[in-house]
Amino acid sequence: VKGLAKKHASASSAPEQAAVLGAGIMGGGISYQSAWKGVPVKMKDIQPQALTLGMNEAGKLLNKQLERGKIDGGKLASTIAMIQPTLDYAGFERADIVVEAVVENPQVKAKVLAETEQHLRADAVLASNTSTIPISQLAQALQRPENFCGMHFFNPVPRMPLVEVVRGAQSSDATIGKVVAWASKMGKTPIVVNDCPGFFVNRVLFPYFAAFSLLLRDGADFRQIDKVMEKQFGWPMGPAWLLDVVGIDTAHHAQRVMADGFPTRMSKDYRDAIDVLFDAGRYGQKNGKGFYRWE
Ligand code: NAD
Repeated sequence: VKGLAKKHASASSAPEQAAVLGAGIMGGGISYQSAWKGVPVKMKDIQPQALTLGMNEAGKLLNKQLERGKIDGGKLASTIAMIQPTLDYAGFERADIVVEAVVENPQVKAKVLAETEQHLRADAVLASNTSTIPISQLAQALQRPENFCGMHFFNPVPRMPLVEVVRGAQSSDATIGKVVAWASKMGKTPIVVNDCPGFFVNRVLFPYFAAFSLLLRDGADFRQIDKVMEKQFGWPMGPAWLLDVVGIDTAHHAQRVMADGFPTRMSKDYRDAIDVLFDAGRYGQKNGKGFYRWE
């Protein structure tokens, strides 16, 4: 961790126009959050139904705020109007900053980033919301790698305060500053971190999951561990519940990335609960069954 990001933010102002690539769980959430805090955003996807879902999600979040009396109809309408769904790059030349949140596939991301760069001004910043792909690797697809860095949000975006701003080998200070400024404007707490497997959060989280898995191998009951961590220790949720929320498939993939990145610390020679659930197709909350059954 390179420390809190104040020094980077002080030199930069928040963008006037943003864009997001991908209107899925993360892209939809990032677009909503940007609009909610007053930065207009173009939300691009390749599937019309993804755009519809993204807009519907934003509408649902705003309606909840309306029902709670936190906003009026005017604020709802103006926020929705600030999210501009699109299937093409029209208007991208006006974007000061673009965050990519398409599927976690290095080839797809490299192609999308290179294509997007063609539509941007030379001073525009491009960032990736990748959870696991090295920023310096993705930068190889770009002509202006100094304008690129990581911007790693957490799910659900409107609720999770932290954003990891990942400095690639070639990311410039100006780029980091602009991304930090946007994250701050979005009401988030950015931290600037180095480009390494797991960035910061997953380097903390996965050793914790590994310790949890070892307790299960020793015969502990996951419900009991969750109960102690949540009710007695006071964390928002225990490890099994958290894994179900994160997604067993996502955790399985990230665990592999961490093991490859830190073989002496993070690799294992046994199958753990995450492997067993993954092989059984129990992906957690997203498909109704993981450690728990989700209705
Ligand atoms: P998702 O599958 O919900 O959404 C991905 C979207 O990208 C889809 O709507 C898809 O149509 C769209 N897409 C694919 N190719 C595209 C292209 N060429 N141009 C524009 N859109 C395209 O995925 P997600 O969960 O939102 O994850 C997106 C990224 O965020 C991944 O890199 C993931 O690792 C990262 N991430 C996810 C989480 C999480 O908990 N879901 C948390 C942090 C980071």
